[in-house]
Amino acid sequence: MTVINKEVHKHELVGGRLCLDFANTVSWHDSSEKSRELLTSYERLVNWSLQANIFNKQQSLLLLEKAKSQPAKAKEVLQQAIDLRESIFRIFSLILKHETPASKDLSTLNEALGNVYRVMRLVPGENKFSLELLNGEEMLDEMLPPIVQSAIDILTSEKELRRVKKCEGDPCGWLFFDTSRNRSRRWCSMADCGNRAKAKRFYHNKK
Ligand SMILES: [Zn+2]
Repeated sequence: MTVINKEVHKHELVGGRLCLDFANTVSWHDSSEKSRELLTSYERLVNWSLQANIFNKQQSLLLLEKAKSQPAKAKEVLQQAIDLRESIFRIFSLILKHETPASKDLSTLNEALGNVYRVMRLVPGENKFSLELLNGEEMLDEMLPPIVQSAIDILTSEKELRRVKKCEGDPCGWLFFDTSRNRSRRWCSMADCGNRAKAKRFYHNKK
């Protein structure tokens, strides 16, 4: 029986949108020296998905169980997830600098987009139809479609896209969705980068 390791990394979900939280699974994402990978195993990817509410505990356990019998496939999915994450990160980072995302990164996202619809189906509702993930397939990459969907939802909406920001804590690199009324949020979290900036300012003022 697979047990979810209680010692596993507790992710800070400060992004406000699934794809942005996913982009934040690297500490100090903008630094080449300080950056640290948080998705170091398939188990960690599933655990992040559990914390981000993509899966419930039962679904997570099923996936981990399944991954055990397909370690090579699980490793492949982890790499695929990381490639997708880096593309999402670079796309938003360049958009924030008013630059055009690289076509290689757009291709990665477009390819993933094709996979999303492969595992979705239209379900009739009361007044309209909705898209739902096909259930019961238990594919190892089942966490990716909702992440891709989240990125597409933002990228195809000018209103949403304007609220995507990068933390001003250098070189934090974390992305977040600014829901403040006048779009004034500057930090991934006040407790973290916000405080560090405040302390720095205090120090400089004293000098
Ligand atoms: Zn930050």
